[in-house]
Amino acid sequence: MTGTIVYNKEISEGIFEMSLAAEEVAQTAKAGQFVMLYLDKPGLLLPRPISICFTEGDNIILVYKIAGEGTKYMSEMQTNNPIRLMGPLGNGFTVKESVKKAALIGGGIGTPPMVMLQKALNIKTDVYLGFYSKSILTEHFSDSNVYVATETGRRHKRQCNRPSQGKGGRQ
Ligand SMILES: Cc1cc2nc3c(=O)[nH]c(=O)nc-3n(C[C@H](O)[C@H](O)[C@H](O)COP(=O)(O)OP(=O)(O)OC[C@H]3O[C@@H](n4cnc5c(N)ncnc54)[C@H](O)[C@@H]3O)c2cc1C
Repeated sequence: MTGTIVYNKEISEGIFEMSLAAEEVAQTAKAGQFVMLYLDKPGLLLPRPISICFTEGDNIILVYKIAGEGTKYMSEMQTNNPIRLMGPLGNGFTVKESVKKAALIGGGIGTPPMVMLQKALNIKTDVYLGFYSKSILTEHFSDSNVYVATETGRRHKRQCNRPSQGKGGRQ
C-alpha cells in the first residue's frame, strides 16, 4: 500500500517525526507494532522497519533517528510525498483491561512504541526513560509520572503529565 506524508519534521538533533496518511494501518495498528517502509531510491532495496509511535485518525506517527542512508533519505522527504509501506507488522503488546497499574521502561529510539502502549493502557502509569543527552516524546505520556535519566547527566527529572483532554481518536 502507499501512504502520503502529512508532515516530516526534526524534533531533536537527527531525530524526526513523520505523520503518514495510511488509513488501513492506522485503523488496525496495535501498540508495539511496526511498518516496513520501501524507499524509492536506487540502492535502498530492503524496506526499513519503523515502530508506530501512535495513530491520529487515519494517520500513523513514526519517530525515527538518522542511522544510515535509508533514514537520511526519509528525513529529506517532503509533505505530500508518497511512500510505500507494509503493515502493521509484529504481534504488538497484549493490553489487558484488568491492568490497573503499570510501569513502562524505554529509552532512546525505543521510546516511540511506549507512547502508543501508554495510550492503549489508558491508566495512570510510571514511565522510566533513558537517553544519551536529550529526551524526546515525554510530552506524549498523559496521566503519567515520567522519570528521565540521561547518560550525560544533562537531564534527570521527574515530570507529572496531566490527563489528556478526552479519549477520542485512536491515539
Ligand atoms: C521492529 C523494528 C522497529 C524499529 N523501530 C524504529 C523506530 O521507531 N525508530 C527508529 O529510528 N529506528 C527503528 N528501528 C531501527 C531502524 O529500522 C534502523 O535504524 C533503520 O532500518 C536503519 O536504516 P538506514 O538505511 O538508515 O541505515 P543502514 O545503512 O541500514 O544502517 C546504518 C547503521 O545502523 C546499523 N543498523 C541498521 N539497522 C539496525 C538495527 N535495527 N539495529 C541496530 N543497528 C542497526 C547498521 O548495521 C549500520 O551500521 C527499528 C528496527 C526494528 C527491527
